[in-house]
Amino acid sequence: MRFPSSRLAVAVIFAALLGIAALAQTGSRGFDPANMCTTCNACEDFYTYANGGWLAKNEIPAAFSVWGTTSNLREKNIGVLRQILEDADKNTTAPAGSNERKIGEFYASCMDEPRIEGLGVKPLAQEMAAINKMKTTRDLPAVLGRLHDLSVRSLFNFGAVQDFKNSSVVTAIAGQGGLGLPDRDYYLKDDEKSKSVKAAYGRHVENMFKLLGDDPAQAATEAQVVLRIETDLANLSLDRVARRDLSKQYNKMTLADMKAVTPSFDWDAYLKALKAPKFADVNMAHPVFFKGVDSMLGTVSIEDWKTYLRWHLVHDAADALPTAFVNENFDFYGKTLNGTKELQPRWRRCVLATDGVLGEALGEVYVKKAFPPEAKARMKELVNNLTAALRDDIQTLKWMSELTQKQAIAKLESFAVKIGYPDKWRDYSSLKIERTAYADNLIRAGQFEVHRGLAKIGRPVDKTEWGMTPPTVNAYYNPLMAEIVFPAGILQPPYFDLSADDAVNYGAIGGVIGHEMSHGFDDQGRKFDLKGNLSDWWTAEDAKNYTERATCVEQQFSDFRVEEVGMNQNGKLVLGESIGDLGGLKIAWLAFQKSLQGKPRPANIDGFTPEQRFFLGWAQVWGRNQRTEAIRQQLLTDPHPLGRFRVNGPLSNMPQFAEAFSCKLGDKMVRPEDKRCQVW
Ligand SMILES: [Zn+2]
Repeated sequence: MRFPSSRLAVAVIFAALLGIAALAQTGSRGFDPANMCTTCNACEDFYTYANGGWLAKNEIPAAFSVWGTTSNLREKNIGVLRQILEDADKNTTAPAGSNERKIGEFYASCMDEPRIEGLGVKPLAQEMAAINKMKTTRDLPAVLGRLHDLSVRSLFNFGAVQDFKNSSVVTAIAGQGGLGLPDRDYYLKDDEKSKSVKAAYGRHVENMFKLLGDDPAQAATEAQVVLRIETDLANLSLDRVARRDLSKQYNKMTLADMKAVTPSFDWDAYLKALKAPKFADVNMAHPVFFKGVDSMLGTVSIEDWKTYLRWHLVHDAADALPTAFVNENFDFYGKTLNGTKELQPRWRRCVLATDGVLGEALGEVYVKKAFPPEAKARMKELVNNLTAALRDDIQTLKWMSELTQKQAIAKLESFAVKIGYPDKWRDYSSLKIERTAYADNLIRAGQFEVHRGLAKIGRPVDKTEWGMTPPTVNAYYNPLMAEIVFPAGILQPPYFDLSADDAVNYGAIGGVIGHEMSHGFDDQGRKFDLKGNLSDWWTAEDAKNYTERATCVEQQFSDFRVEEVGMNQNGKLVLGESIGDLGGLKIAWLAFQKSLQGKPRPANIDGFTPEQRFFLGWAQVWGRNQRTEAIRQQLLTDPHPLGRFRVNGPLSNMPQFAEAFSCKLGDKMVRPEDKRCQVW
C-alpha cells in the first residue's frame, strides 16, 4: 500500500523517470534450464544455481539500474502499450473526448519535443509568479494549497484515505513530506557515502536554479537554503521502519484540533486554495512533524520559503520541461542515485507517463489485446487452491490458540480477490487533454488525480477501485480493503505460463499469490481485522508467540550481508515482505502437494523432479543484475529484500527444499532445526 493513496498516480506523473531503454524482445517462457548454473551447488547458494547462467549472460543495459529475469516481460508489456498509443495517435476517427483520443493525444503531446523546447519554462510562469508575490509567511498556506491542488509535492502531504479504524469511511489525512531525496536518512546519516550523495544533491538543486535563469552565486546560496529546510524536515520525519506501522500514524482529530497543533499555519486559507471539500475530522498522521513545521514558520524567512517552493515546483515538473532540465534531473536521480548510465528513450518515458496519467484508459485497450480469458479462470482456480491450503495450515499451527485460528480463517475467507483488470473502469471524462500542451496536460492530470482523491472524503468506499494499472508487472495486498490484487501484466511467463507444468506455476505465481495472502498476516497486516480495520483480534499469548516468530525472520535478514556495498539488509524494514515470502512459499507448496493427490505422479522434465521444479520456478523470477548504487538505494529505502535473499532466505528454512535437492545439515541452504524460522 502507498500512502496517502491520492498520491499514487501523482507519484508516477512527475516521478524522476529512471533510466530504461528499448530492447529487442526475446520470447519468455516459464522456467528455463539454460538460465541455471549447473556447475554451481544448489545446496550452497540456490539463487546462483537457479540463475547463474542468466546472470552471466545478461549485462545491465545502459539505461537501466536493474536488469532481471522478469525485465523482458516488463519490456514486452511496454512494447504492447507503445503500439496501442501509436495506433491511437494515428486514429483520427475516434470521437473527440473519447478515451482513445485522449491516450493518443496525451502521448503525442509528450513526444512533441520541439514544442516542449519552444515553450521553455513558460508552463510554470503562473505558479512562479504566485510564489514570488508572497510577502510574509502568512501568505504561504494559500500558495502551498495552490501547488498541492496541482499535485506539486512540497512541505507536507495532504489527501484522503480510508479511516484506519473504520475502513468503511474515507477521511482527510495530513502527513510528513517535502523532501527531494528518497528518504530522511539521506539527510541525516554522516558516513562518507551519504555525505557525498547529499553534496551531489546540493549541486543538482543549484544546477536547476541556474537553468531557471538565476545567477551562479545566487543559485549556490539557494541550494544551501533548500538543503537546510529539507534537513530540518528530515529531522522531524518518522523513518521508514516506523512508517510501516499504521497504528503509529493514526491521530484522528477535529479540524479545530489540527489548527491548534499548528497555530502559525492558516489551514482555512490552505484548504480554500486546495479546493478541498468540507470535512470535520482529519488524521494528522505525524503531529511531531507538523509541530516542527509550525515553529519553522516562525524562524525561516519568507525569502527562503520562496526558494524552497520554487525548487519543488521545478523539481516536480522537470520531466515536462526542455531537455536541459530532463538531463539535469536524470544526472542526479538516474546516474548518481541509481548508477544508470543513459536516459531512456523518449517514447518509453512517454508510454510510462501515459500509464501514470490515463492508466485505466490505456489498460482497457491493453487487456483486450493481451489478456486471455483463460488466464483469469486459471488464476481463480490457483487462488482458491492456495486459500484452501492456508486454511488447512492455520488449523495445524500449534503455537496459536483455536480462538485466534478461527479469526485468522475468517479473515482469510473475507479477502476480496481481483484478477486482471477492474470491473468498472475509471471515468476520465472531466480530464481535458490537448495534443499540443504536454506540461498543461500533466498539470490538469495532477489536478484531476488530487481531486479524485479528495472527493472521496466522507463518501462510501468504492470497492471496485484498483491501485495499479492493468499492464503493471506487480501485485499487492491492501489491508484497508482486505483484498489481494493481481494485474494482467504479471499473469505471464516467467510468473505464470499457461503452457508450463503445474510445479513451475505453483512455485512462481503460486508463490506470489501466497506472498500477497501472507501480507494479510505479516507483522503489520495481522493488526487489521476482516473488515480492514486496525483492531486487535489476537489473544495476548498468541501475539507474543507471533512476535517471537517474526523476530526470528527479522534477525535472519539483518544478518544478510551485501559485500559489494558493505551493508546488511535492515531486517526491521524488510520484515513484512520476508514473512510474506516465507509464508507464501509454504502455502504454495501445500497447495501444490494437494494438487498432486489422487493423480499419477508427473514425469520429470528437463531432468528435474516436480518438487525441484517448484523451487526453480520461484527462484527464476528473482534473478537480478543490479548496479551498486541501486543496491544501496534498495537497502536504504525498499521494504523488499534483494532478489538473492528472497530465494535463499525462505528456502533455507524449508525442509521440503532440502529434501528436494538432497541438501544436508551443514550445507549453507539448510538451517538446523532450532535455527529455522516459521511463522505460518
Ligand atoms: Zn509484498
